[in-house]
Amino acid sequence: MMGKTFKFCPLCGDSLVEKDIEHKMRLACRSCEFVHYQNPVPAAGVIVVEDGRVLLVKRKFEPRAGMWTLPAGFVEADENAGACAVREAKEETNLDVKIVRLFNIYSAFDDPRTAVVLILYLCRRIGGELECGDDASDAGFFDLDDLPEAIAFRAHQSALADIKKQFSVGLL
Ligand SMILES: [Zn+2]
Repeated sequence: MMGKTFKFCPLCGDSLVEKDIEHKMRLACRSCEFVHYQNPVPAAGVIVVEDGRVLLVKRKFEPRAGMWTLPAGFVEADENAGACAVREAKEETNLDVKIVRLFNIYSAFDDPRTAVVLILYLCRRIGGELECGDDASDAGFFDLDDLPEAIAFRAHQSALADIKKQFSVGLL
């Protein structure tokens, strides 16, 4: 599926070969039971809308450095998705946010690092002064009718279109 992949079994070190497993060609070990299942990685993020303006951050690092996204990041293995979204908001914008409800879930296949399932929570600000930090080079609120042109990743583009739609009919 993705360009780069593993060549050797992480359990026994023998070569991985393509095998038909559960109706799909997968890399599996020639010698032992190991199958290299490829699954999307969950990411979580926040939607904070205030007075018709949505909170966005500018990416500092590749991929898509210099483009804008909703504050979001990959969920750690020992972390609740909601906690991840709140943590990413704090790290990238310095805002303390509280989850109001789940907004929606988006599958994305245009991040060169991995396939992603993006879980977005509608949140409201409960504290903190806006400043960008960590892996953001800028952060700010943007009028939903005047968003930056360079929105990184299709999942964020779809989410912003859905946010605009819901806001226009008074659902946000
Ligand atoms: Zn093996």
